[in-house]
Amino acid sequence: MASRFKWVFLAFLAVVAGHPERCAGELPGVRIGLLWGQEEVAFSGPAGVTIQRARSGKVVAWAPPGERWEIRAQRGAMRLIGGAGRDWSTTDRLRLLPPEGGVVTVYGVGGHWDGVTDRDYRGVIEVLLGAGRSLTVVNLIDTETYLRGVVPSEMPSAYPLAALQSQAVAARGQALIKAGRHRAAGFDLCRTEHCQVYGGATRESASSDQAVASTRGQVLEYEGRLADTLYSSNCGGHTVNNEDYWPDESPVPYLRAAPDFDEADLGVEFPLAEAELGQYLKYAPVVNCNQPRRAKASKFRWWSVMPSEELRESLASEVGDFGELLDVRVTDRAESGIVREVAVIGRQAVYKIRGGAAVRRGLGGSNSASFAIEPIGRREEPPIAFVVWGAGWGHQVGMCQVGAAGLAGEGWDYWHVLAKYYRGCDLVRRY
Ligand SMILES: [Zn+2]
Ligand SMILES: [Zn+2]
Repeated sequence: MASRFKWVFLAFLAVVAGHPERCAGELPGVRIGLLWGQEEVAFSGPAGVTIQRARSGKVVAWAPPGERWEIRAQRGAMRLIGGAGRDWSTTDRLRLLPPEGGVVTVYGVGGHWDGVTDRDYRGVIEVLLGAGRSLTVVNLIDTETYLRGVVPSEMPSAYPLAALQSQAVAARGQALIKAGRHRAAGFDLCRTEHCQVYGGATRESASSDQAVASTRGQVLEYEGRLADTLYSSNCGGHTVNNEDYWPDESPVPYLRAAPDFDEADLGVEFPLAEAELGQYLKYAPVVNCNQPRRAKASKFRWWSVMPSEELRESLASEVGDFGELLDVRVTDRAESGIVREVAVIGRQAVYKIRGGAAVRRGLGGSNSASFAIEPIGRREEPPIAFVVWGAGWGHQVGMCQVGAAGLAGEGWDYWHVLAKYYRGCDLVRRY
């Protein structure tokens, strides 16, 4: 590995030398959407907040430490309401700046597992009039500082360092490759799992900070191009081909289905016959992501009973009305075990749902698309419910986060973890 790093470092020097306008160590910036469609936004700063017009840079006010100020959308303009009766309107964007190294607190921002709360952000907060003349709140921040708020939001910071480092590299790649997908709304990436969960400075921790700093600028590339380092919580024992989950996509060479265990050790070899697969989905084989100490056991193996009426409604919202629900059958399964197609058999129509993503939606948001399904009820009568049991959590494409923690716990380095989940990619330093 040392030789690879040496090579990468030389490549990095060549890139820097070849582009004199770009200084070594210069960080790309990102715009993260924190809130949108708001009538009003409240903020404060533990060390005060400077309020600036974005276009001219003119300072219009200073909110003293701890004082709560508000911005309201009113008659096509933004109204700034502060202490001591300050009340001022503008249609320009407003920038909220903390003192050097400080934070701005934005009130009532959602997260993931920690719910809606007041959150601190580094960098600059921009408030603008968005769609429907409502307020949009954007965090302008450099990519590395952004990652300090992503890594511990996407992965428990108590995970081993090599897992956090793998997460940092994967998340950096996602930040760079997805930037701009929300451009029409005034930002690059949103703070939710749609892009990547970002909890701001509130979520930062020493271990995840170390993971970001020790992998600074590092990303994965495939044949010289930035790799789309998708990751999900738990693959259940086997990762999934990208095109089996998203059937409109072409196969991506490094997002191939692979066992998350040593096949010789486990004595299991995919693909499994349907009966064997039913057993595999029910029990908990010793694989990298079977980590009850590190993740909820229900992320690895799960089951649910869905009343027919409830399932009928969610399926109908995916495919259209089909009358009474008579059966749901798996009609195509990939070698990895993921359901590639189900047939929905209704009294008035039969529909097919293709691709793991659509199948999960049809089931009302199942934990994963690796599952088996059986009807319950009297013979010769429409079923009263369906029992669904499955493996894993999330899309199962790319890196398995809990599996990465398992491997890191066994002493794997992060570049070996990344090489396992993104085969054929090179670890390179972008900046
Ligand atoms: Zn998004
Ligand atoms: Zn896994």
